[in-house]
Order: sequence, then structure tokens, then C-alpha cells
Amino acid sequence: MPPAEEVRRRSHSDYIFGKVLGEGSFSTVYLAKDVHTSKEHAIKVVEKAHVIREKKTESVMREKEVLRILGNSCPYFVRLYWTFQDTDRLYFVLSYAKNGDVLGQIEKHGRLSIDCTRYYLAELILGLEHLHSKNIIHRDLKPENLLFDENWHILITDFGSAKILTSENGHNNESSTIDVPEKEYPYKRRNSFVGTAQFVSPEMLTETHSSYASDLWALGCIAFQMASGHMPFTGGSEYLIFQKILKLEYTFPEDFPREIKALVEKLIVLEPQKRLGTSDERKYSSIRQHPFFTVLNWDDLGPPPKISEDCNQTPSQEIPDHLEPGLDEEKASRLHLDLLSPSPIITRKKSPPNRKITDLTDAEIQERLEAQKSNIYHSFVEDNLILKQGFIDKKKGLFARRRMFLLTLGPHLYYVDPVTMTLKGEIPWSRDIKTEAKNFKTFFVYTPNRKYYLEDPEGYALEWCKAIDDLKNYYYPDET
Ligand code: ATP
Repeated sequence: MPPAEEVRRRSHSDYIFGKVLGEGSFSTVYLAKDVHTSKEHAIKVVEKAHVIREKKTESVMREKEVLRILGNSCPYFVRLYWTFQDTDRLYFVLSYAKNGDVLGQIEKHGRLSIDCTRYYLAELILGLEHLHSKNIIHRDLKPENLLFDENWHILITDFGSAKILTSENGHNNESSTIDVPEKEYPYKRRNSFVGTAQFVSPEMLTETHSSYASDLWALGCIAFQMASGHMPFTGGSEYLIFQKILKLEYTFPEDFPREIKALVEKLIVLEPQKRLGTSDERKYSSIRQHPFFTVLNWDDLGPPPKISEDCNQTPSQEIPDHLEPGLDEEKASRLHLDLLSPSPIITRKKSPPNRKITDLTDAEIQERLEAQKSNIYHSFVEDNLILKQGFIDKKKGLFARRRMFLLTLGPHLYYVDPVTMTLKGEIPWSRDIKTEAKNFKTFFVYTPNRKYYLEDPEGYALEWCKAIDDLKNYYYPDET
């Protein structure tokens, strides 16, 4: 890490900001170039007011602290180069993961090859050995949080849920700095982090302590997903997923590679202390010695196996040189607009005219569900029938983020980032949900805790309100 006074001297004017790389729940990540070194970075910009409003200060500070502890000590982690702030925002200058994430590659190829699965699990294990030796538990490991650097090595990221243990016996002495009792942890995240439930270990659901073994459970789930393309625990709701996890209810697909199966079965184990690696004196010698890894030289993994045919293409220069350094409101808005247009894969679908959900027979629902499997957004809706979908600009703070909204039976109202193809969340349903159309484009959805500002770029705000109201009347008929 650079000396503290140097950190203070940096500001956003030391960087030329290019495109938006992605958005988190309370951050926007930009590709940026250091004007002094020409090095490309990912800069995570966090709006202070939003973080405070969403009570996420603890998580942001924890992420910064973990990145600070890790520094430059291990190649398998995203590195924090600088942090600075201005009145409204915090800036984290990070290593730029040029090649996306593991989830993207699994989705692109259906699954990873055995060689890639072995290699990237090995990098992850080396990363975990290091992380755990620093007394840190990640607690949110999943393929989406394993990024790829320009040479196709993994960079573990997202330490907002991490836990820093401060004593050798593994007990957490930092209770004053964590605002969520362990027991509530997975439940607290119910509405904002739908995707993560699948990787939560059983002890995080039932006990007051998580441990390093919780990351080993996630390692097993990741191995399963890399090799098969599917997560071991899925279900129509987080509750159902948690039930399956607690009962260890999962099955291997028939063509699941045998040598990985034996490893997964030793990691996805209900009792944390029985998971492979937990009783190692030297972490994680028993995992290293597992027959699946026999062909590897752990002291030098060598270059990564080719993950895809096009992985050797050099990415083109992405930040035009003529841009001025710095990030003011106008520039930030423009970069967001660049992200929003041209709109990718627009498949706006209206619900069939004059067809109410109540009019659909079970057979029709099944038929439509079958047809829906070819819809690229089907994988986000937990097998619920999509009644209406379309792009909506979801306003948050100063910015609008374009999302694919999916109104489904259940009821659910999911929204997906169409650029990164990740589920960003869902508007929570209850009998108290209300809509209000302000004009043809703008409409609001009110939930007990929040007002959502939404804008339909095609001007069908009224239709959205009606569809949501119809669904509400269907599920809560006496609430009108
Ligand atoms: P949430 O805050 O909701 O958990 P997140 O952890 O994905 O979401 P961020 O860490 O802010 O939030 O990242 C937002 C997006 O930016 C990521 O999904 C990814 O697409 C992109 N991104 C984040 N870090 C990097 C990086 N170092 N290099 C390249 N892209 C990145």
C-alpha cells in the first residue's frame, strides 16, 4: 500500500474515467486510467448518502479494511491501490479485472472443462489459504465474486460480508464493529442479495458462529457449479433453498465428473468440522492432496488452461485519450447514459391483451412456462411464469440504471442488469404494494419501506401499473 500521505494526495482528477463496468447495490464501478502511469483500474465509487441511508457503512468499511490487510500480499485477490473521498463519495482504486468473472464463463460455456475447474479451484484454494492465514473469512464466495485478470488468473473480490477474526481461537472479538448478529445474517440480506442464498453454509443459518469452514462449504458449491454449470442448492424461494441446505438435499447430474464428485462430497458436509481441510494443521494440505489435484504442482500451477477459443484476444484500448480527467456529476451522468444506449437485446414483451392471470388455466401456465425456457431471462425467475417483461430505468440517487424488469407469478418483480446479466434484486411483494403512474413514462411502486422511481423508456408506465395491480388483486383479492 502506498504511504498514507500519498493516499490523501490522490483525487478523482488523477484518473480519466471511461465506461461503467458495473453497478453494485450502493456503488458504481468505472474503468479508469491513471494519468500518471497510464495503468487501467476499476474505480468503485460509493455515494456516501446512499450508504448511510441503506445502513451499509459497516460493510463498506469492512471491505476497505480487508483489502488493506491483504494489500499486495497475494496475487489471487483484487488489490486496493488507493482510496480517497470528496464531500459526496468514496473512491476505491482497484485492480481492473479485464476478463469478467467465473460465472460469466460458466454461463458462456455451460460449464468449465475439468482442467479449468481443477486449475481455478486450485487458485481459489491458494487464495483461501492466504485469506484464512490472515484470520479473515470471506463468507460470500461464489463464481460471481471470482474475477479474471488480464492473464486469466482469478481475483477474489467483494469483502463486504467478510469477517475479521481477531484472536487465534477463532472467536470474533469485533462485535462492536459488526451490526448484524450472525444468526440474522442470511435473513437480513433476503431482498437485496437473492443470488447468494445458494452458497450459504448450514451453520450460518443455524448457529451463532461462522468459521473458515463456511468458506470451504462455498468452495464445494463452487466446484459443483464449475463442473456442472448448476448450483447444488436451488429453489423457488430463499426459504426453500435454506431448507434444502439444512437437509443436504442436492443431487449430482448423471454426467458429473467422478473425480470432482469425490471432492465435492467431502466439502459439502453439514458439520463444519468434518469438511475436508478443517482439521489440517497446515491449511489446506488435505485438500491439496485430494486425488483430484494429483496432477497439479502446487508450488507452480503454471499458466491457466485455455478457458475458451477467444481468450487470447487482446482486449482493445477502452479509454479514449482525449477525455479530461476527473468525475463530476455531468461526466458521471454521461457515462451512465453511454451504458444505457445502445440498448442491448431488447425483447420487450407485452402481456397478451385482455388476458388476466385469473383467465389462465393450469395447462396454459405449464405451456407458457415450457416456451419461456428459451427466454434468456428465464434463469432469473426461479421457474415462475413471466407475465410481463421490459426495460425500465430504475432511478437511484442521481442516476438511472436500466434494468430488465420481470413480473412473474409468485408474485415477484425481479430486475436484472442486462449488461452483466446478473440479477440485481426484486421489489418485495406484500399486500401493501401500491403503484402510481405519474405520466406515460414515469411511475412509482410503493412498498412499506421504499418508494421506487421507475421510468419506462417506451412510455408504457400505465400498462406496468395495471399489470402490477392485476397481480396484486389476484394474490390479495380483498385489498382493493
Ligand atoms: P453488491 O454491492 O450488490 O453486492 P457487487 O458486489 O457486484 O454488488 P461492486 O463490487 O460495486 O458490487 O461491483 C459492481 C460490478 O462492477 C460487478 O458486478 C462487476 O461487474 C464490476 N466490477 C467490480 N469490481 C470490478 C473490478 N475490479 N474489475 C472489473 N469489474 C469490476
